[in-house]
Amino acid sequence: MELELIKSKLHESNFRLTQEREVVLTTFMNSGQMLTPAQLHDCVKKEYNSVGLTTVYRLIEVLTKLGLATPFLIDGEIYYTFCSDHHHHHFVCLDCHKVKDIYECLEMTHKYDDVGTVNYHRMDLYGHCKNCERKNINVKSLEP
Ligand SMILES: [Zn+2]
Ligand SMILES: [Zn+2]
Ligand SMILES: [Zn+2]
Repeated sequence: MELELIKSKLHESNFRLTQEREVVLTTFMNSGQMLTPAQLHDCVKKEYNSVGLTTVYRLIEVLTKLGLATPFLIDGEIYYTFCSDHHHHHFVCLDCHKVKDIYECLEMTHKYDDVGTVNYHRMDLYGHCKNCERKNINVKSLEP
């Protein structure tokens, strides 16, 4: 998703993208993985020392409201990933925390017509990515 489009969306919700906030945003967008606000803060600090944790929380809050960030609850921790505004699902690697977007939609909502009207659905897959799976196999084969 284009930065300009995100900027205008943020602007519409009266959120001014200062230089600091923009650094947080681009770091988040380019990370390709899920991060806790504290982890994102650590990444940002490497480049931009003066950014506070509150700034990170505030941006993530706004992005989540706009549908541009999705939270995942894993082992009691809330992680966030940056999201485009096209409907999609996620494959989340529990080892390296990389998130892969899945644009194929498993339409099964029509099965629940008699329960009520479905407005939207969410589905995320959690597991181990190919890369981590290979590493795990290598580690196991080294064990006695
Ligand atoms: Zn997403
Ligand atoms: Zn992985
Ligand atoms: Zn879907």
